[in-house]
Amino acid sequence: MIYKGVLTKMQTEFLDPIQYYLVFENDFIHMNQLINKTISIKLVGHQCLSCGLDRPIFRQGFCRSCFFEQPTAGDWIMRPELSTAHLGREDRDLEYEKKIQLQPHIVYLANSSNVKVGVTRKSQIPTRWIDQGAHEAIEIVEVPNRYLAGITEVALKDYVSDKTNWRNMLKNDLKDEDLVSWRERLKTHIPEEAKAYFIENNQETNLVFPVEQYPTKPRSLNLSKVQQYQGVLKGLKGQYLIFEDDTVFNIRANEGLVVELDL
Ligand SMILES: [Zn+2]
Repeated sequence: MIYKGVLTKMQTEFLDPIQYYLVFENDFIHMNQLINKTISIKLVGHQCLSCGLDRPIFRQGFCRSCFFEQPTAGDWIMRPELSTAHLGREDRDLEYEKKIQLQPHIVYLANSSNVKVGVTRKSQIPTRWIDQGAHEAIEIVEVPNRYLAGITEVALKDYVSDKTNWRNMLKNDLKDEDLVSWRERLKTHIPEEAKAYFIENNQETNLVFPVEQYPTKPRSLNLSKVQQYQGVLKGLKGQYLIFEDDTVFNIRANEGLVVELDL
């Protein structure tokens, strides 16, 4: 059976284990059911997630001009501390920025290969943790806007990483950490403006990914280079498909690619 569509990050459901769905315009593919089956992926084109044109994808699923012009790709997305909607100041489209930035945000600690600090909208918990392949995570601060979350993250980066090592995450080379005690240690470094929003009494969330075999030397599939790949799916973690031959494919990093899947 052949399915054709533009790649967008997999939808997920927080169950034990996590459930993954690839959503195309006309199809909804439950990826967990494909574990231990052969999948072929073929690159057939590109479709910018904003303008819909068949143009090379520049970043985050957008063509170059959309990436630099669309409000959904402003710098404050990747760098929350640059948010200005709380001051009524526009970056690219103030109405859109107010809608996204002026809502509850969470600063969290997540452990996927090491403990890292991150920011997300409250509505994106635990989706954000699933997308990062974190096996444990905890909220530390809940603030009313993106700016406050951003400056908290920047302050905490001096004491905890803000990066994950995707290879270690995929190899399942991990260490359980006591995130409650990490949270207590970091408390004093939260900036004054955000101190009142510290969350005192919550516990770690644990996440279980559907993986039957972890890669020992993960190699990233570059579909633009090879055009086509076939392999046996062994698991799903973060936004990665993990194959039997140690090939891994990051769906999120390939958003905007139009593919044919032969299942
Ligand atoms: Zn575009």
